[in-house]
Amino acid sequence: MKQDDNKQDLMQIQIDDFYKQLGTSNEGLSDKEAEKRLSKYGPNVITQGKQGSRVKDFLQHFISVMAILLWVSGLISMFAGMMELGIAIWAVNIINGLFSYWQARAAKKATDSLKKMLPSYAQVIRDNKKIQINVEDMVPGDVFQITAGNNISADARIISNDALEVDESALTGESNLVHKQVDYQHSYGRFGIKNEVFAGTIASAGSALAVATKTGMETELGHIAKLTQSNKKITSPLEIELNRLTRQISLIAIFIGLVFFVSAILFVHYPVAKSFIFALGMIVAFIPEGLLPTVTLSLAQGVQRMAKKHALVKSLNSVETLGETTVIASDKTGTLTQNQMTINHIWLLNKVYQVTGEGYLNNGEIQFKGSKVTTESDDDLMKLLKISALNSDTEIKRDDNQKPKIIGTPTEAAHSILVAKSGIDKNKILEEFPRIKELTFDSNRKRMTTIHHTKDGQILIAVKGALSSLLAKSTKIVDQGKIRDITADDKNIINEADDGYAAKGLRSLAMAYRIIPETMNSSEYTIENTENDLIFIGFTVMADPPRPEVYDAVKKAQKAGIKIIMVTGDSGLTAKSVAQKIGIVSDQARVITDTDLNQMSDDELSEAVKGEIIFARVAPEQKYRIVKANQRNGEIVASTGDGVNDAPALKQADIGIAMGMTGTDVAKDAADMILTDDNFASIVTAIEEGRTVYSNIQKFLVYILNSNLPEAIPSALFLFSRGLIPLPLTVMQILTVDLGTDMLPALGLGAEQSEPGIMEKPPRARNAHLLTKSIIWKAFGWYGLFASIVSTAAYFFINYLHGWPGVALASSGANYREATTMTLAAIVFAQIAAAINCRTQRSSVFKIGIFSNHRVVIGLIFEVLILLFLIYVPFFQGIFDTGPLKLVNWIFLIAIPIPLILVEELRKWIVRKMEATKNLK
Ligand code: ATP
Repeated sequence: MKQDDNKQDLMQIQIDDFYKQLGTSNEGLSDKEAEKRLSKYGPNVITQGKQGSRVKDFLQHFISVMAILLWVSGLISMFAGMMELGIAIWAVNIINGLFSYWQARAAKKATDSLKKMLPSYAQVIRDNKKIQINVEDMVPGDVFQITAGNNISADARIISNDALEVDESALTGESNLVHKQVDYQHSYGRFGIKNEVFAGTIASAGSALAVATKTGMETELGHIAKLTQSNKKITSPLEIELNRLTRQISLIAIFIGLVFFVSAILFVHYPVAKSFIFALGMIVAFIPEGLLPTVTLSLAQGVQRMAKKHALVKSLNSVETLGETTVIASDKTGTLTQNQMTINHIWLLNKVYQVTGEGYLNNGEIQFKGSKVTTESDDDLMKLLKISALNSDTEIKRDDNQKPKIIGTPTEAAHSILVAKSGIDKNKILEEFPRIKELTFDSNRKRMTTIHHTKDGQILIAVKGALSSLLAKSTKIVDQGKIRDITADDKNIINEADDGYAAKGLRSLAMAYRIIPETMNSSEYTIENTENDLIFIGFTVMADPPRPEVYDAVKKAQKAGIKIIMVTGDSGLTAKSVAQKIGIVSDQARVITDTDLNQMSDDELSEAVKGEIIFARVAPEQKYRIVKANQRNGEIVASTGDGVNDAPALKQADIGIAMGMTGTDVAKDAADMILTDDNFASIVTAIEEGRTVYSNIQKFLVYILNSNLPEAIPSALFLFSRGLIPLPLTVMQILTVDLGTDMLPALGLGAEQSEPGIMEKPPRARNAHLLTKSIIWKAFGWYGLFASIVSTAAYFFINYLHGWPGVALASSGANYREATTMTLAAIVFAQIAAAINCRTQRSSVFKIGIFSNHRVVIGLIFEVLILLFLIYVPFFQGIFDTGPLKLVNWIFLIAIPIPLILVEELRKWIVRKMEATKNLK
């Protein structure tokens, strides 16, 4: 309790005492002091607790149902007097366990490293300057800014407040927003102090300035984290399907084992124990133990590749969903366009100014070759420029190299540049009209207001915002230096002018103002009592060119059967013009605005989104309905967003995509994927990766499964010839294919690059299974069949060299050993062909480069090395019943992959031709 009392004290004491106690002031800490404190208190992070025991983690890979089956099988073999087989089965199990542990770790490492790629920032005051630091570097005593939409990064006391509302549900479980204030007041409970905020909670509205009292594990969140740290693992649908698949295959394996067991007794009159061991070998060979970890690793590698291409995926699940995406609902500004606004016109009722001279934002830097736009004599123009200067949070600063830099949003930046170009000194104007308060911009009302004192003791209300939103609130207009009532005609003229620009894809931003007597104090100014009865001045016209990569990305998405729907806060005409320009829609597209949307029923909306459509002037909340409407049509929807109010849509979407550069923490938390470059093209790239990962998993599935057939056929020959054909491949040899030779190339296939044409197919259906008929057919009826033919041929080839059919097939001795070794080697060489063939599903491997996947190449080299060890190292010869091969045998073996690759190339060629003719029809 003592600690709680301390905490209360800290929130209750006079502000000066509070500063003293924390060794800080409203000018913030000095950099030096902050550094000292950082080394004293440590970084501001919630550290992960012990993540379960390592040993337990490790052992898990040895106690799955399959593994237990193998342990028991090995034990039975040992007891039945087949020590070597028992050991071999255990060896399979151990190698599999180690391998799967390694894969799981590699996968975890890959996903963990992503977390580091998304640093969070905090705005703190140090040395009386507002700067941005990494949240991790925040220390007790830091004065920091809290803004709507962002996480609060430390426990803190509020020192100035502008209607801050906080979502504390992460700590309290209560979803109601909590109002905060500067004065101490304690309602109830641990989190009930009104002037205290907590790390891990979210500012939902308003803003505040606060002083950090606790950071890192010392915060309330840290205390809770200590108690409850657990790493709940979520199983993805893909993993569930794979588990099911492994179980199914295992059951089939057990069934085949049983058939072999009974057949061995009935047909070859093997004793029961020997028959059992024989059947066991088959079961072990058939069970795909390594499948799940291989898939997890391949997903994790996909996630890593996506991260390199600016798409951070938060869970492996999303990789799969990305590949299924059928609709992308995308914002316009900044995602499809560059968010580099250049003002090219200023429109006033009786005059239009063309803004010349280049002045634009480039990577946060202003390039300035200005000609001046102002004529002091034009009062109306001066008014517009002054309102632009006053109503802005964006600043032009010079960095250490004296290069001008913009701090703020691009829309405001364009206006700051305009103001600077016109020769107006923003600071002077602010001195003349000191700012009292800001009513921040939000995407719903599409306006922003700042409130200022005037020299003669009045209040100036400066407003800027979307034209329609401002016109609706204006009752007067400036007209050649005079102010008069605004008429319907004026509004028509204004709208027509705006439409003209919008049709060219240009954006407008309107300015208005109002002067009122000073009757209230600053906290009483609200949207309701300021943003009406405005005097309309005019508007600026901005160009925001599309991102250059977007044109190709749009084409690619459309070819891949993915529909793009633009959902923007901008005006309908601007939106349509831009959408048409980048090829999202034709001129037939329907534009639905916020008002249309409000009048539509859910069913009408679902019907409407089937056609070509654009949503304009929509509020973020309406995005949720748009996402839902598409989902009702069975679409898999990816939706972008950046603001607090985008969160519901981001959560509802199958793939919620937040903007990494401009997005709020709330949006990032709600999203499944974060674009580090805010670029639409990265979404399409991520979808391509998603598709690739899935098809790679299918590729190694074919590869792993296909060798089962040539492993089974020899035993079947033996059994069903009633022992006339001696066993062409011993149980121990079957295990070696599973044990080592198969694993590494399979891993390599999981890292295969996107196959040409992967974005020319429609999205995969949600209910499509991993193991499709065509995969089964390919694994067993095609690759497996060929491998069986060549391995059986190899077996008879050796016997032929030794005089068969003149003499009987050898059933023991050197000749028998040579024949079985040859069968084993033939299977390995058929697998080499299979690994190369599996690399593509329909393109020619020669087109992608036969050796272009280094991992597969390394896997294959290992495969051959293991085979050489088995054949030539005496120790292994003893265990695996193998023997050296002659030159002629090697020539036979090396020739195997050639026809197998050529036949498969022919099949792929036919498939491509057939697809091409189908497309022509
Ligand atoms: P998108 O939704 O595609 O990102 P957008 O930037 O136009 O496009 P919002 O950010 O919701 O969408 O903005 C809606 C409208 O509000 C803009 O078209 C503009 O007219 C106006 N607006 C944007 N920024 C500001 C601002 N800082 N101050 C005042 N009005 C603004």
